[in-house]
Amino acid sequence: MGKKNKQFVEKVTAMEEDFAQWYTDVVKQADLVDYGSVRGTMIIRPYGYAIWENIRDILDGKIKETGHQNMYFPLFIPESLLQKEKDHIEGFAPEVAWVTHGGDEELQERLVVRPTSEVLFAEHYSKIIHSYRDLPKLYNQWSNVVRWEKTTRPFLRSLEFLWQEGHTCHATDEDAAEETNKMLDVYAQVCEDYLAIPVVRGQKTEKEKFAGAKYTLTIESLMHDGKALQSGTSHHLGTGFAEGFGIRFTDEQGELKPVHQTSWGITTRLIGALIMVHGDNRGLVVPPRIAPTQVMIVPIAQHKEGVLDKGYQLKEQIATFARVDIDASDKMPGWKFNEYEMKGVPLRLEVGPKDIEKNQVVLVRRDTGDKEFVSMDELSMKIPALLEEIQTNLFNKAKELREEKTSVAKTFDEFKQLLEEKPGFIKAMWCGDVGCEEKIKEETSATSRCIPFDQETVHDKCVYCGEEADKLVYWAKAY
Ligand SMILES: [Zn+2]
Repeated sequence: MGKKNKQFVEKVTAMEEDFAQWYTDVVKQADLVDYGSVRGTMIIRPYGYAIWENIRDILDGKIKETGHQNMYFPLFIPESLLQKEKDHIEGFAPEVAWVTHGGDEELQERLVVRPTSEVLFAEHYSKIIHSYRDLPKLYNQWSNVVRWEKTTRPFLRSLEFLWQEGHTCHATDEDAAEETNKMLDVYAQVCEDYLAIPVVRGQKTEKEKFAGAKYTLTIESLMHDGKALQSGTSHHLGTGFAEGFGIRFTDEQGELKPVHQTSWGITTRLIGALIMVHGDNRGLVVPPRIAPTQVMIVPIAQHKEGVLDKGYQLKEQIATFARVDIDASDKMPGWKFNEYEMKGVPLRLEVGPKDIEKNQVVLVRRDTGDKEFVSMDELSMKIPALLEEIQTNLFNKAKELREEKTSVAKTFDEFKQLLEEKPGFIKAMWCGDVGCEEKIKEETSATSRCIPFDQETVHDKCVYCGEEADKLVYWAKAY
């Protein structure tokens, strides 16, 4: 490691020193975002956007495979429409952005810039659903939404973010419940199989559920600093919106009934999770299945005859089985090594005059730093195998870290001590009383993350009040 290398790394604060600053440094140095001119907004740069496009394409494929269709709604919601579902407006009112003027003229009715589109879908559904033959309706929208947050951080919390929101209508409560589960599974698959982020699946408490939902299912993941991040939610909306908006259908017996609805979403927050689960003090680490570039070719002594030609030839060859690029700029190889480590490219391929003589290349893994010489004839075997190995290794490492940072608390004293000394998920029993949940949040700022589907009995008393309890809850401080 030369002097240059060291200086480069110093641009990133060590995560042990200041995790928040480390995050901000990585986001900037890996060139994922720039700050927008309005406080709390972000400009997603090409590299950040390419990661989002990969997440989007994978999820979009799964949304379509499960029978959904994409459509697109307007950005604006009339105030009167938002008022139609009481819990929903109460939940969102504090953070909506209002449009009051069109040009010079004051609008007769204020408009909301969508914070989510339940009411837009609901109004539309009330017009197009009449009979059981119209059901189910399985729609999804890819869009931006605006929530006027007080404190913001790129990807994690920004005034405007990108997401998809699925909105479906069903004839029965059971069908809607099945849909809610199905989409949570799809989200868990995307997180675990592609982003290499292990998740805990469960249900939100009444206090933490989506405004206007019957219940909310969630996948929760744990970041490097021991804070949790809600990574995707799927809501069973029951018939609340259907009743507010008159979304009714005539069933096979000729009876008029409200539809049962769901909604579900994941957002650009997942990029924040990716950074905080896999990143290290050298920058970003991108799992191969999500990486815009899986292999970066860095020619060594590229001014020497035949080196660049070989580099381009390798690129063409590798492009048939992996996403590959070459940096043929006149920057020093050391600079390039740092740059693509910072960007988290899974594999670096070095090729110079001596390698060409020996018909070999050097492959360097981003996750472990391991280096090996590989014959040029074996690349089509070796590279895909290495990419798979990296993918698996990242998932396993993340899972180990989560397990290391997951503890059990039986008493509130233990709970508080763990939060101080060993931040992470705390598994503790809860009596079901919202009062206990609120007190825990007040006194520790940890929140209930979910009631996991995988229940176990770690104790028989509520961690706060000491009364009998049979629900296991995951608690944590969260983003
Ligand atoms: Zn209690």
